[in-house]
Amino acid sequence: MEYEGSEPGTAKSTKPAYTPTEVAADPENELASVIAGAQELLQWEETLGGTGFPTPERVAIPTSEGAREGSEDLRARLQVLTEEAAECTRCDLHRGRTKSVFARGNPDTDLVFVGEGPGYNEDQQGLPFVGRAGQLLDRMIAAMGYDREGVYICNVVKCRPPENRTPLPTEAQACAHFLVPQLELVKPKAIVALGRCAAENLEVVPPAGRWRGIWGEWRGIPVMPTYHPAFLLRSPQFKKPVWEDLQAVLRVLNREAPKR
Ligand code: SF4
Repeated sequence: MEYEGSEPGTAKSTKPAYTPTEVAADPENELASVIAGAQELLQWEETLGGTGFPTPERVAIPTSEGAREGSEDLRARLQVLTEEAAECTRCDLHRGRTKSVFARGNPDTDLVFVGEGPGYNEDQQGLPFVGRAGQLLDRMIAAMGYDREGVYICNVVKCRPPENRTPLPTEAQACAHFLVPQLELVKPKAIVALGRCAAENLEVVPPAGRWRGIWGEWRGIPVMPTYHPAFLLRSPQFKKPVWEDLQAVLRVLNREAPKR
């Protein structure tokens, strides 16, 4: 999957951050992967210049300013979409899926993350961002002062593309049938687009120049495009600019990152 995160003027990488199938098939590889993940998380903390991420006790869990009116209706409508996606055959991606991956987290939130599409682990579990990139995303979310279940996380496409490739425009277009009402129902105060694919499909990539860290708007909702966590796993030097993007998001939400 091409989690694009290239700086302007650099060629985009086509090398996947990891191959989940290989990890799952080889226990030694899996152990190495866990160790590598832990090291990457430590690097992420060092990149931020702090002594550590907020511990769970110190993380402020947002209460989303009270349950939104019509909250049960919101969840019921999202559930209808979830069930429809599970049976969907609108594009060819349905042929290879184990489970469709609709979303995880709290739809009564002010903050939504949109990624590209499910990988191996996500396809197996039916949940987005549950692999190594998901663990890094959880740390990023915690650093912002949110609980991992206090935000809402979804993808441009709900079914895993073969070999984790980037979804084709036609596939993304077909799956907008779900993404558009999903985001309109949740209606957050800000969206973080993880990777260029998500940013493009939320139409916040300028025709030329830098795309990361430049505020855009999707149907009246501010969108911050930033690098995908899978890209950060292989290019940790970009964690600092991503953290700056996330801090900009916090400012729009009138929130502060917990003191570390
Ligand atoms: S990716 Fe989206 S549009 Fe394509 S089959 Fe899956 S749910 Fe349907």
